Amino acid sequence: SLQDSFQTRIFKIIVIGDSNVGKTCLSYRFCGGKFLKNPEATIGVDFRERTVQLDGENIKLQIWDTAGQERFRKSMVEHYYRNVHAVIFVYDVTNLASFESLPEWIEECSHHAVPPVVPRILVGNKCDLGRGEVPTSLAQRLADSYNFPLFETSAKDPAEKEHVDAIFLTLAYKLK
Ligand code: GDP
Ligand code: MG
Repeated sequence: SLQDSFQTRIFKIIVIGDSNVGKTCLSYRFCGGKFLKNPEATIGVDFRERTVQLDGENIKLQIWDTAGQERFRKSMVEHYYRNVHAVIFVYDVTNLASFESLPEWIEECSHHAVPPVVPRILVGNKCDLGRGEVPTSLAQRLADSYNFPLFETSAKDPAEKEHVDAIFLTLAYKLK
């Protein structure tokens, strides 16, 4: 109906991964359109939003950030994972340890996400620095083992701006 066409649907997307992999910068790149120079200054921000039009429909993507506390207290975990529509797992392509942490994050998410099965994707960030520590083949193998799509990108490189958008929009299309 006409009424429906003016409604905005809201989807909650959470961004998970080790500290310093660029979760805040990725979310800011998508919602704010820029590379965030001092992500530390955003501690305390619960989420950022961006409304996109897909096939004439307004979709508001609410991107939840961990506010610098990657290891939550128990009460926070529940809050963060509640009513989640999609999950982005992030690692830093120049930091093998951040990649090796992924199974733990994926496990935690599987335990807490409500509802439990939501679209999930893997994002290797900081590709502007080269792919030194985490080769694509290694990341692809992990992604395949979970059946998650894999994206490699950079929140910093302006040439990757459209790619970052495309990653979030891919999720939005899956959700709508
Ligand atoms: P978070 O702890 O996962 O939220 O990571 P931040 O978004 O706070 O970023 C951590 C650090 O990595 C900051 O110094 C950012 O400037 C830097 N950073 C984030 N994304 C990129 C990227 O794509 N390339 C490079 N070279 N640095 C990045
Ligand atoms: Mg952060």
